[in-house]
Amino acid sequence: MSEEDPFSNALAQLASVADLLTIEPEYYETLKNPRRELTVSLPVKLIGGNPTTFVGYRVQHNNARGPYKGGLRYHPRVGLSEVKALAMWMTWKTAIIDIPFGGSKGGITVDPTKLTRDDLEILTRKYVDALERDIGPDVDITAPDVNTNAQTMAWIMNEYSRLRGHNEPAVSTGKPIELGGSEGRSAATGRGVAICVREAVKRFLKKGVKDVTVAVQGFGNVGSNTVSCLMDMGAKVVAVSDVLGGARATGRTPGWSFGDLQAAVKKRGSVGKVGGAEEISNEELLESEVDVLVPAALENQITEANAKRVRARLIVEAANGPTTPHADHVLDRGGVYVVPDILANSGGVLVSYFEWVQNLNRDHWPEEAVNERLELKMKKAFNEVVDHSVKESVDLRRSAIALAVDRVVTAMRISGWH
Ligand code: GLU
Repeated sequence: MSEEDPFSNALAQLASVADLLTIEPEYYETLKNPRRELTVSLPVKLIGGNPTTFVGYRVQHNNARGPYKGGLRYHPRVGLSEVKALAMWMTWKTAIIDIPFGGSKGGITVDPTKLTRDDLEILTRKYVDALERDIGPDVDITAPDVNTNAQTMAWIMNEYSRLRGHNEPAVSTGKPIELGGSEGRSAATGRGVAICVREAVKRFLKKGVKDVTVAVQGFGNVGSNTVSCLMDMGAKVVAVSDVLGGARATGRTPGWSFGDLQAAVKKRGSVGKVGGAEEISNEELLESEVDVLVPAALENQITEANAKRVRARLIVEAANGPTTPHADHVLDRGGVYVVPDILANSGGVLVSYFEWVQNLNRDHWPEEAVNERLELKMKKAFNEVVDHSVKESVDLRRSAIALAVDRVVTAMRISGWH
């Protein structure tokens, strides 16, 4: 298997914590594979185009701690291995942030930029039709992920409600506020990442967040909200990028504001065109001379090939799976701290949980209440992972996965899975 096969990497991570666990081997074996892997074929008559059949996936890894929970990703290269890995990571993520959910993930192999909005709506509805009996507020709850957003979740909610014959907001999270979406959900993942940066800088670099330089790869929902929150905290975000390229400030203090970055995307199509800065590639961004690197794009960005060229002392993983297990070894030997994805980006699913609770109670919380709870939960989880890593003398990823697996297995054992 290549270094970049996501599911092999997820399994390698699970194997790397085996010696830290005191769990029965049968539970360990069960966790290696998802409980259910669904592949659905989605024939769509594209408006003004040819009839096309798309392939969709929903992988449900584990539901010992609560209903399956995970996002839905639209990408031309989405495949089963990737969705399986992402589903397993969701199980660890919901356990580490300690919310009563299991883990799942969905995907459709499609390039959404090639479809009209109407066609995307039809495709999303077809996906719900195909999986109607496999998702639901008590079964498996969807959310936005790469290339899906609040609008996608609105379509999911509407289609599911139509099929069921009653309004059912809790089938998806990350919805528009007007349809039962939570205040603070769209910024939540980035906000949680920024909190982890702040806490990790304090703990490992013995600095304040205002004293560090940061490079952020990716300027989608997660990347842009991370940049915005970090700037609000006073951090110096000196390098940014998106799929089309990046920009690096020429001095140690960037001459751009968050508004300048947004304007570059809007007017010139890429954050890399912000101006007053040096244009760089994504590869160069990862190797920037900064204190903190935040990969906020896709998997397998930091590999055995480039890990030794990473100059940041701290990596905070906003994306899922940006660092391969081979790269982890290189970084660990080089003394680079890595705050793992399942902790660093768990603010998103945490506020999804808050949204689900609000929906079930027909309630709506103010933004301050959401952000206050987010802050408390993130800090608690961060401290638990760090303390456990000290106790076991292991890196933060192994610490987080071991803690998460232990919580999942405890639930399996008490409820009698075997
Ligand atoms: N897709 C996001 C993630 O990977 C959010 C999942 C959710 O809110 O359910 O964590």
